[in-house]
Amino acid sequence: MERVLEIKDLKTSFFTHVGEVKAVGGVSFYVNKGEALGIVGESGSGKSVTMMSLMRLLDDTGKIIDGEILFEGKDLVKISEKEMEKVRGNEIGMIFQDPMTSLNPVFTIGDQIMEPLIKHRGLKKKEAFDRSVQMLSLVGIPSPEKRMQQYPHEFSGGMRQRAMIAMALCCEPKLLIADEPTTALDVTIQAQILELMKDIKVKLNTSIILITHDLGVVADVCDRINVMYGGLIAETGSTKDIFYNPRHPYTWGLLNSIPNAESTIREKLKPIEGQPPDLLKPPVGCPFAARCKYAMKICEQQRPPLFEITPEHSSACFLNHPNAPKIKAPVGRGGYNE
Ligand code: SF4
Repeated sequence: MERVLEIKDLKTSFFTHVGEVKAVGGVSFYVNKGEALGIVGESGSGKSVTMMSLMRLLDDTGKIIDGEILFEGKDLVKISEKEMEKVRGNEIGMIFQDPMTSLNPVFTIGDQIMEPLIKHRGLKKKEAFDRSVQMLSLVGIPSPEKRMQQYPHEFSGGMRQRAMIAMALCCEPKLLIADEPTTALDVTIQAQILELMKDIKVKLNTSIILITHDLGVVADVCDRINVMYGGLIAETGSTKDIFYNPRHPYTWGLLNSIPNAESTIREKLKPIEGQPPDLLKPPVGCPFAARCKYAMKICEQQRPPLFEITPEHSSACFLNHPNAPKIKAPVGRGGYNE
């Protein structure tokens, strides 16, 4: 399969007045053409910093320390800021959690969708207008020509998110990054936006990275999932692997905290107890050890490598070692060494 993106051993830190925060501690993954990858984890897991590194949008204190970000063969870590500007919004589109922070309140929706088409694609105003109407219609905005003349405050939350998606897609990016795109929306609109993203993947064959703290959000849209914890990948696999054969106690915790829509009894959601690690002083061993009820001595002494379960499925947990105690996963259908 053709790879659109390949990240190799990415390390990103923030240099604050209290010291170096190792937000991403060495992360490798890829995205194939036309596939959707979910990146899931709590806040502070490194998922958004990984994406901000990829877009080279880190703030002044942030720095990529090491690694490669190969997009269509070129290393985004090495190219100039000018070249990067051509990649952002043109070859890689991005949608954020709150469209109001990305949409400019003083320009019409139409002007904002047309701008990258004129700037990056060199389209004439009329061509850009027609293309923008087409995009608004593709993302399900009724009366698109009329909507082009309106301002962001005249759109509902769901409509604004649709407009943002239209904006991100208008230059036909090869990769679309969506960072918590549905968090600010109510459940019905959330379902519609996720349905729209699935549709886009099929219709435009765009590769998608969907970043979220909620495993439930990626279930229906993504082909593969990276679970991140403490700035590292805890588990990676197909969506089926993660849901039916999860191999990491942190993934179990995330799965346990998803409400079960099919359940007929009132079940209490089980949050993951404890706090994420302090990345000013990252633990030597497994970053999840302090919260893990299966932690062994080795977990505090050594960082677990990614154990390969299948060529597509790996987990950074010592319980996957052939000599580890056999423990039945409390969620999904799988277990260790069974
Ligand atoms: Fe728990 Fe050890 Fe596995 Fe980390 S490596 S998740 S501490 S069992």
